[in-house]
Amino acid sequence: MPAEPRVAWEQRWHPLREEWILFTPHRGGRPWIGETHKPADVDPPSHDPTCALCPGNRRLRGENPPYSGAYWFTNDLPCFGPDAPSVSGGDELYRTRDARGTAEVVCYHPDHGKTFVDLTDAEAAAVVDLWAERHAALAARPEVDHVLVFENKGALVGTSNPHPHCQIYAGGLIYGHVEREAAAARRHFDRTGEYLGQEVRAREEAGPRVIAANDHFLACVPWFARYAYEVFILPRRQVASLADLSPSERGALGLMIREVATRYDNLWRMPMPYVMAIHQAPTDGEDHSTFPFHVEFHPPLRKPDTMKYLAGPEIGGGSMTNESDPNEKAAELQAAGGPHYKRMAR
Ligand SMILES: [Zn+2]
Repeated sequence: MPAEPRVAWEQRWHPLREEWILFTPHRGGRPWIGETHKPADVDPPSHDPTCALCPGNRRLRGENPPYSGAYWFTNDLPCFGPDAPSVSGGDELYRTRDARGTAEVVCYHPDHGKTFVDLTDAEAAAVVDLWAERHAALAARPEVDHVLVFENKGALVGTSNPHPHCQIYAGGLIYGHVEREAAAARRHFDRTGEYLGQEVRAREEAGPRVIAANDHFLACVPWFARYAYEVFILPRRQVASLADLSPSERGALGLMIREVATRYDNLWRMPMPYVMAIHQAPTDGEDHSTFPFHVEFHPPLRKPDTMKYLAGPEIGGGSMTNESDPNEKAAELQAAGGPHYKRMAR
């Protein structure tokens, strides 16, 4: 493959979402007199008596056991639930369907003050094992068409509670990005006989944007990144969901997530906020064996104190503008390896 040029003032095709991304790297350093952000770099205590996720604490409904290791429970205020009314009906334009399903919370660790970067190898693997276990249980439910596992990290993406945790939404809804990726991958396979996810992985592997790699996964700032510090974790073989991962692949995925999160924190020596989403095949009974399983990280910051605001083009128009060069952002994350900065300071 020829050497890749740097991003110019150009549009790039996002092959998984089948949409164009506008790159305007010449605008990244434009004068900014808008709002800036200060990271809240306070170390939370190991146990917070007011935290609904800490062991032994009372929640809205029920109480957490004195758990050790990774722990899950059903969200006390779920967005999909067994009690949602039966409303399916309407006409072609104004249609309704019910919100049956469930929502779960997965605590990574009993220690309120830790984040994913603090997990041991075994603890990180145990989190992925628990995701796979919950995925299997939820996928088997007839009302569940898709299992979305995601983590909102940091106040900038709306997380009020620092306790290390993620959420699982599972109901009769295939989330939009996943539905588009499923269709794109199926069409690509029908046309070429190749797996779309593996083609993207091979191109990224041959390019300059890989920031970390192990036996089963690599992490990169993809060529078509929508956010400045966006990172994808891509598997080295075609897998469609957590259910397809072997025990050693689950362990390797845990280590790769920890590696990405550590590099994020090291970048500016502050806790990096992000939305992490595991994209996996729908569980609606269709054949999704071509689905490109991967993990996406979307950090909202483009500088330590400056948000990437979604505004006119993104919210109003529905397409993303990226003011940065993915090659440059990958180089910054490549240079942010090594132990977590807080461990270095100790
Ligand atoms: Zn807590």
